[in-house]
Amino acid sequence: MKLIQKNTLAILLGLSLAITSCSQQRNDVTEGSTSDDEIEFIFPKGNKGAEKNFTGNAYNYGLLMDSTLTTIVGNVYFEPGARSNWHTHPAGQILVITDGVGYHQIEGEPIQVMKKGDVVKCPPNTRHWHGASPDKGLQQMYILPNIENGIVEWMEPVTDEQYKL
Ligand code: MN
Repeated sequence: MKLIQKNTLAILLGLSLAITSCSQQRNDVTEGSTSDDEIEFIFPKGNKGAEKNFTGNAYNYGLLMDSTLTTIVGNVYFEPGARSNWHTHPAGQILVITDGVGYHQIEGEPIQVMKKGDVVKCPPNTRHWHGASPDKGLQQMYILPNIENGIVEWMEPVTDEQYKL
């Protein structure tokens, strides 16, 4: 729990820093992604996700890590064409789409198209990936419950063939 509290402080510090640079980060969004001019940013863009875990550019912004509720809430902005690797969440995940168009796929099931207002659930320990559509970016809030069980297990990239709708 001490570790979580430390992380919470780090996130809150990051939050205040990110808010001060919010307008600058918003300006960055349109560079090199002309189709995303109309994407709404509720939260700051955040920090670029690790290349080993994502194809293309995805940006993570932590909103909350609570050691009593054992829950993490954050936002990811995926540029058009960007997606996560295959991964699992030991306690599952809920996505709330606030703008754009994206894909979500649970292994063995068809790709599910996600749009503004959609709420998508992924059960615990289930291989899946999520990201933007090829032509439009995605704003997704994520909720990770019961993080005492773990947060994420990263796996291999989603191939171009798998990414096709
Ligand atoms: Mn996920």
